[in-house]
Amino acid sequence: MCIFCKIAAGEMPSNKVLEDDEFMAFHDINPIAPIHILIIPRMHVENFQSVSPELMAKMVPFIQSVAKELCLDQTGYRLVVNNGRDGGQEVPHLHFHLLGGARLKWTHLAKDETHKSL
Ligand code: 5GP
Ligand code: ZN
Repeated sequence: MCIFCKIAAGEMPSNKVLEDDEFMAFHDINPIAPIHILIIPRMHVENFQSVSPELMAKMVPFIQSVAKELCLDQTGYRLVVNNGRDGGQEVPHLHFHLLGGARLKWTHLAKDETHKSL
């Protein structure tokens, strides 16, 4: 069982923000923004590339509810999905990073970083 499956099953602790039958939102253990939430489906889906449109359709309103719960709908936020090796995905269970609580920089897409290691 992967680490996020264990969190979804309650076998590993997490600092939860919101949950329902199909999705969970909890604080990232190593935050890179003042607010850094991970949003996952309870079912194991390896990555964004393999998620079904049906599951995504249900995940979108859940993500919006998490943003609202934290008042990020008012101030703004960034949603990030790392997919696969080049995307820097470390945990092979689909998750969205919801980042906010500050004006976020866009350094990874800055001109001098683009295509650096390609
Ligand atoms: P990725 O690089 O796969 O997109 O992101 C994985 C994220 O999961 C990282 O931001 C990392 O800090 C977070 N993470 C890894 N293990 C745990 C854990 O056991 N609990 C929580 N809450 N976050 C974790
Ligand atoms: Zn999993």
